[in-house]
Amino acid sequence: MKYYSTNGKADRATLHEAVVKGLASDKGLYMPEVIKHLPESFFDEIQDLTFQEVAYRVADAFFGEDVPAETLKQIVYDTLNFDCPVVKVTDNIYSLELFHGPTLAFKDVGARFMARLLGYFIKKENCKQVNVLVATSGDTGSAVANGFLGVEGIHVYVLYPKGKVSAIQECQFTTLGQNITALEVDGVFDDCQALVKNAFMDAELNEHMKLTSANSINVARFLPQAFYYFYAYAQMKKLSKADNLVMCVPSGNFGNITAGLFGKVMGLPIKRFVAANNANDIFYNYLKTGQYNPRPSVQTIANAMDVGDPSNFARIYDLYKGNHAAISSEISGTTYTDEQIADTMKTCYQETGYMLDPHGACGYRALCENLKEGECGVFLETAHPAKFKTTVEDIIGETVAVPNKLAAFMKGEKKSVEMTKNFEDFKKYLMNE
Ligand SMILES: *Cc1c(COP(=O)(O)O)cnc(C)c1O
Repeated sequence: MKYYSTNGKADRATLHEAVVKGLASDKGLYMPEVIKHLPESFFDEIQDLTFQEVAYRVADAFFGEDVPAETLKQIVYDTLNFDCPVVKVTDNIYSLELFHGPTLAFKDVGARFMARLLGYFIKKENCKQVNVLVATSGDTGSAVANGFLGVEGIHVYVLYPKGKVSAIQECQFTTLGQNITALEVDGVFDDCQALVKNAFMDAELNEHMKLTSANSINVARFLPQAFYYFYAYAQMKKLSKADNLVMCVPSGNFGNITAGLFGKVMGLPIKRFVAANNANDIFYNYLKTGQYNPRPSVQTIANAMDVGDPSNFARIYDLYKGNHAAISSEISGTTYTDEQIADTMKTCYQETGYMLDPHGACGYRALCENLKEGECGVFLETAHPAKFKTTVEDIIGETVAVPNKLAAFMKGEKKSVEMTKNFEDFKKYLMNE
């Protein structure tokens, strides 16, 4: 399979090239040349397949031409060593719980898959060590670090702003050891991001070591997110609730929902999508007006969705050839203030006993307000409420139990390297690695 750039000016790339490069040279996002349709027979039996079996069929459509069947199967099965169950919240609203992976957020799926795919390419081509640089404000660093932990041939450097990530988040990438190094930068997130960008542009450094990013726009992180849409459908079909299925996705950078849209192109019978935004309502306004006006993000309690210029908008635009009417007939949008998000978390807990995290709350509320007669909705519960423990406890007035997996990180010993925000210091450090 070849991958083209949404900006149309870069050369087509192989899967290996697209994974190592992340972004195309014209700054566009990679798209597969063909999105294969899956056969009727697959959808006929999907409700009887396991998550791993479903995912492998989808992975084969994306990557089957580039990775031998046995290897791809191994990668998929290793990636998905946890469940993504659909859980009933009300009669016609279900939660797709994507927080049963190692760092309790959906980003585990893409990060684990990408790590294994990159590991395969490195081994096959006998490349020298690849170094992944990732800047994080919290969640991405933990998913990437844990996804790549112990993968041979890859070393990960996580750059994070000192004192600006929560204790729970910090321990998820500073206690791992092995091939993961945490760099504690004396600055803010933007400084970390600038260090990473400068590193990719520095010729001498790139001569010295092979650098790559594990950014969420990478096709190997993005496409595997389609797996759980198929599995959600399978579970709803088993419950005889799949006829008029609406999928609702709490969205920030719009990678997650775009993977679902790909699923629909592959034949997945989803009636329509809802993109739930917090106060960062750029996509919501695009749907209303046809104008895409990015602006600086505003801070909210659903902070993983605080994005003012969603990267994957370029993929949605490309998928529908820029046709606003087509996009808005497939996807509707909502936007919520922090007060509305908090109110939803509280009311849902009181009325149903289901504990939402602030991101999932946007999804749940959007379904409550949007479902039509005869429709059934599934929202993506993108993170475990314990990841936002104090916020959730303040809102619902109850203690949130911390899952063992998360508690285990907190027992580990923190190890990090102190770093200034000065690029020359960062470069000197890497040149000595
Ligand atoms: C990253 C993230 C999102 C947003 O997903 P996108 O693919 O960027 O739209 C939503 N919720 C949580 C918990 C996240 O970590």
